Amino acid sequence: MPTKDKIKLNGGEFILKESLSNDVFTPEDFSDEQKMMKETIIDFMDREIWPDKMKYEEKDYDLTVHAMKKIGELGLLGVSLEDKYGGMGMDFVSTMLAVDYVSGVTGSVATAYGAHTGIAILPIYLFGNEDQKQKYLPKLASGEWFGSYCLTEPTAGSDANSGKTKAVLSDDGSHYKISGQKMWISNAGFADIFIVFARIENDKNITGFIVPNDSNNGIKLGEEEKKLGIHSSSTRQVFFTETKVPAENLLGERNGGFKIAMNALNVGRIKLGAGNLDGQRRSISISTDYANNRIQFKQPISNFGAIKEKLASMATSCYAGESACYRAASDVQSKIDEFESNGMSKQESELKGVEEFALECSILKVAISEDMQICADEGIQIFGGMGFSAEAPIESAWRDARIGRIYEGTNEINRMLIIGMLLKKAMKGSLDIMTPYQDIINNKSLENEEKSDILNDEINLVENFKKVFLLLLGKAFEKYGAEIDKNQQILLSLSDLAIEAYLSESTLKRTIKNINRSSEKDQTDQINMTKLYIYEASQIVQKKSSDVINSIIDLKDQADIYLSVNDKIKYSKNPNIFDLKTKIADKIISENKYCF
Ligand SMILES: Cc1cc2nc3c(=O)[nH]c(=O)nc-3n(C[C@H](O)[C@H](O)[C@H](O)COP(=O)(O)OP(=O)(O)OC[C@H]3O[C@@H](n4cnc5c(N)ncnc54)[C@H](O)[C@@H]3O)c2cc1C
Repeated sequence: MPTKDKIKLNGGEFILKESLSNDVFTPEDFSDEQKMMKETIIDFMDREIWPDKMKYEEKDYDLTVHAMKKIGELGLLGVSLEDKYGGMGMDFVSTMLAVDYVSGVTGSVATAYGAHTGIAILPIYLFGNEDQKQKYLPKLASGEWFGSYCLTEPTAGSDANSGKTKAVLSDDGSHYKISGQKMWISNAGFADIFIVFARIENDKNITGFIVPNDSNNGIKLGEEEKKLGIHSSSTRQVFFTETKVPAENLLGERNGGFKIAMNALNVGRIKLGAGNLDGQRRSISISTDYANNRIQFKQPISNFGAIKEKLASMATSCYAGESACYRAASDVQSKIDEFESNGMSKQESELKGVEEFALECSILKVAISEDMQICADEGIQIFGGMGFSAEAPIESAWRDARIGRIYEGTNEINRMLIIGMLLKKAMKGSLDIMTPYQDIINNKSLENEEKSDILNDEINLVENFKKVFLLLLGKAFEKYGAEIDKNQQILLSLSDLAIEAYLSESTLKRTIKNINRSSEKDQTDQINMTKLYIYEASQIVQKKSSDVINSIIDLKDQADIYLSVNDKIKYSKNPNIFDLKTKIADKIISENKYCF
């Protein structure tokens, strides 16, 4: 039988078209090399980092530097860089895998690793000239040097392009003098170089610079910030006073710094999604172990439905996050390959590949950072009073998780970006939203080729989540037109619909793909998690769409829209949610860990 060509979707297209499960990458598709890398990192983290977990709560910044050096010795600081810059030249999925498993033990190491490998190294790798790359990347890849990314200022947070830091060119054009104040700078306490964003004259946009750390060159650090979590992650203010920076240290183009900053953040966001996965796995595993050993009423508390319900939900969210993260990572890599095969340079291809999926990057950042927080919160509840104790590892997991919703663009900003980017693509003509919207109004079906008897309702629901999203986006656009971006509460609700559609579809496709290559029996727990995830998603879709309908649709038209939405998110056979949760939890409890 002739095999069908793989359907490759562009960024944002998931909301309009269906991917077939066989075309979607899953964690079960890791190559042998990737599996080996995963095992090596887990082994390293268990052996070298986990035993010091409690010490990371004591503001031991040197411990983080020590960990980063060791991670450098493993080659993991340069996974994404080409060999000629001292890197491992690995593909995008492997770099996601590295950040995933390096980040699970403590948010302090996760943040140091994310800041160094993501937002500090990547601006040089993606935008630097050859001399800059040769000079800085090998040392940053080996861990001889560390980097920081200095964008945020006291008056420029979410509004990142409004920074006041100035760069003044000398009369002879040989150097710039940078003056300004940066705050919340991760790794500042031990950074050898800073990527600094500053404005030249009255330029519209900021410009990026590579600034070596030198206290004799007008650079002063503030005290370590006293933070809720990530206690051993160095976070300081950095003050620049007429810091002399050679003109050749300008990164990319003058006025191009905002583009650099945003592109670095796109990568940072998808990696932050991945970086919140292993924290969930570990939280689930330690909570399961605690529940299996904690005896109350003469039995392990894991026997109780109230505990099972939590473990099942925690595992299901983690499974969904993994599914979405690695699906997106592979889509990014396919795009990079496509650009490269069309003659684009490696760096340009990487840049454009991630940029293409910027919308998915934001989805993953928001969804998985919030799942991590909920997971750690439920973990604390399973630990009971012990969970509130600083002596239990779940306490720091909860505090560390909180920052994920704030940095790399707050989750509010990212939610609004999801819709903003989709509309921008539609305006530019690269995504046709109007035709499917009209089809929905006219009750035409989106293409739906996937078949699975056991997940048939879920296949229909996922298709319909997209329809509900498109229907309400269309209604909102009809009402507000280009002014839609001024209606943030609508954007937030709509983005939640898009998030649920993406995570639900990714989960569904992963499970169907694995059923197709093994069996329903083999995938029993995964089927249960898929059903549970999509049921919970349907509740969110119901709530968020009601919020939108009640707020923007005229009263006389609301009944029709409600009918249409409710019809779309109904089951032919309602799942038994308590039964699903019990079965999922029983599996984890019997394995005493997250085991999918
Ligand atoms: C521990 C830590 C480490 C960090 N590391 C770095 C780093 O290494 N480098 C770096 O440059 N920065 C770093 N940051 C800064 C971080 O990226 C910013 O804190 C973040 O972008 C938010 O900016 P802000 O704190 O100024 O909040 P604000 O921008 O003041 O936002 C406050 C609130 O208002 C909301 N808000 C703001 N604007 C809008 C809007 N237009 N519409 C709706 N809501 C809005 C936000 O969502 C948020 O809820 C770090 C921060 C922390 C806490």
